[in-house]
Amino acid sequence: MAIVDPWVEYFFVGALQMRCSVVTDRLTGDTVIIDGGSEPERLIAWIDRFDGQGPDWSNGPSDRSEFEDLDQPERKVVALINTHAHFDHSGYIPDLLLHYPVKWYLHPDDTYLQSLAQSSARRWGFDAPVPAQADEPLIEKETMGFGALKFTILHTPGHTLGGCCLNLLVEGGPDHLFVGDTLFAGSVGRTDLPDTGGDFNVLATSIHTQLWPLAADTIVYPGHGPLTTIGHERATNPFVGEGAGAQGSYGRGKYA
Ligand SMILES: [Zn+2]
Ligand SMILES: [Zn+2]
Repeated sequence: MAIVDPWVEYFFVGALQMRCSVVTDRLTGDTVIIDGGSEPERLIAWIDRFDGQGPDWSNGPSDRSEFEDLDQPERKVVALINTHAHFDHSGYIPDLLLHYPVKWYLHPDDTYLQSLAQSSARRWGFDAPVPAQADEPLIEKETMGFGALKFTILHTPGHTLGGCCLNLLVEGGPDHLFVGDTLFAGSVGRTDLPDTGGDFNVLATSIHTQLWPLAADTIVYPGHGPLTTIGHERATNPFVGEGAGAQGSYGRGKYA
């Protein structure tokens, strides 16, 4: 059964303003954190207590009293999931795991990249804890249940070897697609980062074969920048959209 009424929030965290998404099933309170890469205290304070700065966008309650009026269960974090292992997306997973004793999911092809999260952060001039090791693999082409939340896992290498897009199936649509740095509004992820396995042709093939077949109204949550939809990007994206030509343009995304 697909979810009926997801509560979606996102937070732009850390110096690279990476989008961390928090998705909750309003019926059960089951919650997953996608790309908990930075500002763990801010995320925990809001998810547990509605304290502090809160999300940059939400379709749910904006404070504790509003939440209590809704008569829905308390949130229960059931899993941490990552689209990929760049440090801005995964660097502070250890702090979240200390607070939420749940499993952390990552595609196995990003295991090596994940082992470098702390040294990569230092190279960019940031601090990060000793990297976490994923507990469980994301399994491509499968629809995986995390509590009551079900995501279809699309393996979309090109920005990194193990990059995945997570499609939250919503009854009656539109679906919500968390793409990490595979696709941006009007751009694509960088393919020139070290130790990552980046390859523009692989990335374009991933997008053409796995993302473009999705429903046009699918809402796309990129790892950086504004939201978009599959239909809009398929029609207009200058690097991988219908107008980009057979070879595509060379990818010059801005983000890690
Ligand atoms: Zn990123
Ligand atoms: Zn990245």
